[in-house]
Amino acid sequence: AGIDPSALKNLLLLGSGQSGTVYKTLDVVHDRIIAVKCMSLDVPSEKQSRIIAETEVLRKCRSPFIIDFYAALFVDNQFLMCTEYMDAGSLEQFGRLPESVLQPVSVCVIRGLCYLWNRRIMHRDVKASNILVNTAGAVKMCDFGVSKELQDSIAKSYVGTSAYMAPERIYGGEYRIHSDIWSLGLMLLEMALGFFPLSLPGASESPVALMQRIVNDQVPDFRDQLSHMHPAFTQLVQSCLIKDPSLRASPSGLLENVFVVEHDPIEHARVALFVTSFYKDQQASVQPQS
Ligand code: ADP
Ligand code: MG
Repeated sequence: AGIDPSALKNLLLLGSGQSGTVYKTLDVVHDRIIAVKCMSLDVPSEKQSRIIAETEVLRKCRSPFIIDFYAALFVDNQFLMCTEYMDAGSLEQFGRLPESVLQPVSVCVIRGLCYLWNRRIMHRDVKASNILVNTAGAVKMCDFGVSKELQDSIAKSYVGTSAYMAPERIYGGEYRIHSDIWSLGLMLLEMALGFFPLSLPGASESPVALMQRIVNDQVPDFRDQLSHMHPAFTQLVQSCLIKDPSLRASPSGLLENVFVVEHDPIEHARVALFVTSFYKDQQASVQPQS
């Protein structure tokens, strides 16, 4: 199932983040479109082998809520991760999500996280740009932290500060499931509001100042802005954003929340309709004026 780098033809730059650059790529041998994330990683060959070995865990992750992993390889000092391509991109681009879309998205994300947690994998980077969607209405997680070696190597090449980091992480505590649950709550609240909930209005703030506020301040009360939504959603988000990790929601608490259990089966069609009409509107707005 290996991938020969000479059989990969990059078609399009999809985006780049703190750790790497993602391309839409043609895998000539398997005749399929895939996504390839490229990370500059200057590590000795023994370390390269250990990183590749650790990605074996990814190959065994099979869930409708997790993107499929195909292969990992080094090409010189570039580490390439080949995964399923999601044709509607990440949830970051859509801004505020209507409740009819946020509901199935929440279910998929929580089920995806529970799948990982059951395998003792922490995600470590829950945020909207790591939730991918496609025009069939699937919602899947990507970029979770499987490889310890990889994490350490990446950490050396950039300063990892994240606005989604749980308070106990800022103290330097051990990473546990509850830290993912904080990030989840923050991300869902952001999707419901259409803006990052912990930013000061109008102010541009240093990452350090934001971290200090996450540790010291109360989480703002958004109940008024969420009053149009199912009350179980507010309850879900509030239970994730409890600062003391021992009082925060547990995985089973998330799965039992009414906002999460109420609509079964998952309404993928609503996600599909939302993303396709978003792209149609976007196309319409860039039509040349004749
Ligand atoms: P970040 O997650 O911080 O934005 P990444 O380098 O992980 O940075 O990803 C950059 C962008 O590439 C993402 O925001 C997403 O839009 C896109 N992307 C990543 N993986 C895929 C994929 N498998 N299919 C389609 N688009 C992807
Ligand atoms: Mg990402």
